[in-house]
Amino acid sequence: MDEDVIAGAVLRIDLGALAANYRIIQRAVAPAAVAGVVKADGYGLGAAQVAEALIGAGCRHLFVALLTEAAALKPQLPPNIPLFVLNGLNPGAEPACAAIGAIPVLNSLDQIDRWAAEAQRRGRTLPAALQLDSGMSRLGLPPEEVEALAADSARLDGIETVLVMSHLACADDPAAAANARQRAAFLSLAERLPAARRSLDNSGGSLLPRGHLDLVRAGIALYGGAPQEGENPMRPVVSLTTRIVQTRTVPAGTGVGYGLSWVAPRESRIATVPVGYADGWPRHLGNIGAAFIGGIRVPIAGRVSMDSLTLDVTDVPDALLAPGSLVELLGPHQTIDMVARDAGTISYEILTRLGHRYARHYATEGMTA
Ligand SMILES: *Cc1c(COP(=O)(O)O)cnc(C)c1O
Repeated sequence: MDEDVIAGAVLRIDLGALAANYRIIQRAVAPAAVAGVVKADGYGLGAAQVAEALIGAGCRHLFVALLTEAAALKPQLPPNIPLFVLNGLNPGAEPACAAIGAIPVLNSLDQIDRWAAEAQRRGRTLPAALQLDSGMSRLGLPPEEVEALAADSARLDGIETVLVMSHLACADDPAAAANARQRAAFLSLAERLPAARRSLDNSGGSLLPRGHLDLVRAGIALYGGAPQEGENPMRPVVSLTTRIVQTRTVPAGTGVGYGLSWVAPRESRIATVPVGYADGWPRHLGNIGAAFIGGIRVPIAGRVSMDSLTLDVTDVPDALLAPGSLVELLGPHQTIDMVARDAGTISYEILTRLGHRYARHYATEGMTA
């Protein structure tokens, strides 16, 4: 059975490009180390495959967001690779976290107390990262909790603090004043806590022209997304191709798709491809986005349906419009950032919503599967 023929579209994930992106960031931030952020199933690309490729490229630290993600990934990792859980610990999740062998990122005094109690129950030290809120007001100990902890350091008994971290709110904008403000706040708060390796920067932060402390937590840049506004130094990792199901020629004035929201301004050729919003192709792209056929831009004509969308292919030569002809949705002519811009969102959302009906192929360097 040829999976590519029966699937609506084929998603290719270039693990060689992913490893190359890892090395680009590693060179940019040395001597800091680079951790791989593989939450949300490796930004939709497969956490286990991504983790294996990153480890092959020299990565020694991984982050997920949820304990459920850690439970799935940890057994697939070499035992010496620390796996951190960014969102911390739900009350009652402490025994599971210890059993999985994941390292929680503790975000509050309450989480610290519960993890210390778990360590005491087990009669052994448990590792943790401590996250400080340096100004994003999302996760992490606020300054008053850092002070309370500094004044009562016995609360950390039984906890081995392996990392102190915080997260930047505006790292994608190098001109944002908040970047320097958060860094200064983080460094001074971290001094109040036990000495440990320090981590502040994500992908965007890795491009800020200053030091990067001990560990950078890279996500989107590994997957080929632009880490900051402007030029993108990363290699693309995903391509998505589909095939024409059917074409038709319609006279000027004909409506296309739900609501007949696109009306042919001239006699037009319409091609239908089997990818829709159920595959994560944003419905917002109706009458806005595009695909490419033989390098020619073909605008989406009409609304995106659940399982298909329609393209205005009037300007494409007939030879490229047979049933089964290739259509590029992501690839050399259209990046995840371009699709995101058209859809009014960010590349992260395009990747993490990629559908589960695609045939998936993983390529490593030198392989063209
Ligand atoms: C998601 C996340 C990252 C990775 O961010 P990117 O912008 O994808 O590099 C790093 N740190 C934390 C705390 C995160 O939530």
